[in-house]
Amino acid sequence: MNDQDTIVAISTPVGYGGIGIVRVSGEQALACSERVFRPKRRRSKASSHTVTYGHVVDFETGDVVDQALLIVMRAPRSYTAEDVVEISCHGGPVPLSQTLNLLLRAGARLASPGEFTKRAFLNGRIDLAQAEAVCDMIQAKTDASARLASQQMEGRLSGKVRSIREELLSLLASIEAGIDFPEHDVEELTRSELDGGLRSVRSEISHLLQSAVAGRVFREGVRVSIVGRPNVGKSSLLNALLGHERAIVTAVPGTTRDLIEETASIRGIPFVLTDTAGIRDTEDAVERIGVERAQLALGNADLTIAVFDATMELTSDDFEVIQRAHKKPTIVVLNKIDAASQVTARLELSEAFGGQDVLEVSALRGTGMDAVIDALFTMATGDRRIDVESATVTNIRHQECLSRAKRHVEEALVALSEEVPYDLTSIDIRSAVDALGLITGETAEEDLLDTIFRRFCIGK
Ligand code: GDP
Repeated sequence: MNDQDTIVAISTPVGYGGIGIVRVSGEQALACSERVFRPKRRRSKASSHTVTYGHVVDFETGDVVDQALLIVMRAPRSYTAEDVVEISCHGGPVPLSQTLNLLLRAGARLASPGEFTKRAFLNGRIDLAQAEAVCDMIQAKTDASARLASQQMEGRLSGKVRSIREELLSLLASIEAGIDFPEHDVEELTRSELDGGLRSVRSEISHLLQSAVAGRVFREGVRVSIVGRPNVGKSSLLNALLGHERAIVTAVPGTTRDLIEETASIRGIPFVLTDTAGIRDTEDAVERIGVERAQLALGNADLTIAVFDATMELTSDDFEVIQRAHKKPTIVVLNKIDAASQVTARLELSEAFGGQDVLEVSALRGTGMDAVIDALFTMATGDRRIDVESATVTNIRHQECLSRAKRHVEEALVALSEEVPYDLTSIDIRSAVDALGLITGETAEEDLLDTIFRRFCIGK
């Protein structure tokens, strides 16, 4: 694949919409679009950042395909820093694919996922962490995750990483000056100064790493599986958490046969809630699939909400649920408290879950839901005070690069304390610099870029 090609893609989602956008980028972007777009009023040359009304026209048959607006953004003031043309036509699959095909026939090549953003990176308009934030923004599930993505897109993380990297580079330069010119006093940068510099870098990296837990919770969300035997009110609880109807609530046991996955924003954290089919032995083939999936979801979950019915004694199916739920951090919910004349199961449940609080709830009426929401938030965040402001690192890749950089800095500190020659210390520092460079992309290789940009959608 050639980075010099002119690329084209439909940038809006598949389906029917008011408008749809076909985006072209590259040296031939203007030439290609001139072949397929006939402006209503002829202009000698569209200047940058202008909009022109006209028609998309088949340049071989002369047939008009659609009415459209042509937006021109000349290099370097565009998303990719290349010449970019966007054709805004009607948002149906037919006009969009016809416009796309015309541009392909006019000489552009189909863009691969994320290729526009990759070019923005390769052309130095944004760095790698900023490019990744574009994808996070598109996929953000809550206001808070979008805010974090926006901050990263603006370069909050990149700025911090770059300044740490520069501190290391300047330490490195001083060491290397000593190594390269041994006639100068190598001890110019004294060991204690170097030690101080490295310690300060280590603490800055640690600080960023501390923000990673919060950041990842906001970006990736927390997977919660709601378990319980049939009819205890799992779907009702899911609905109460979502605040709207989604799962079909019925009084027949075993009807939630498939998994229902919904994302609820709780204080900005995306909670991906899975309502599972009742965990119990069953002969019914379809239901069994549901039960197997439920067990799988339970396995993948970060947390579980185990639901029990306050109107009855615990059954053997309930004990089965207790057994399975036990392996994960669990919120214990005793539902239908509104209909229970006396609650017998509370003590037994609390004992079964090692003295844990049993939250009494009426999913139907919404009573006790605040406690469930508090418990979800507390469990997701642990004892840490988590807020959007303190979260800078949101991505596991960045977290790993930072950990690696910190490890190399620590190795450099050890080398320094053992008074090994400076050039060995400098190898460790160089490795730390490279690890940090992977975050912003200075040291990123092609296969890493491929892995990152594959996650994007086509047209972005
Ligand atoms: P699931 O099979 O565990 O998903 O249970 P559902 O959510 O489908 O609920 C089963 C039945 O219990 C339905 O008839 C609900 O209306 C009823 N139900 C659920 N929650 C409550 C509650 O808090 N109070 C009462 N009285 N009934 C409830």
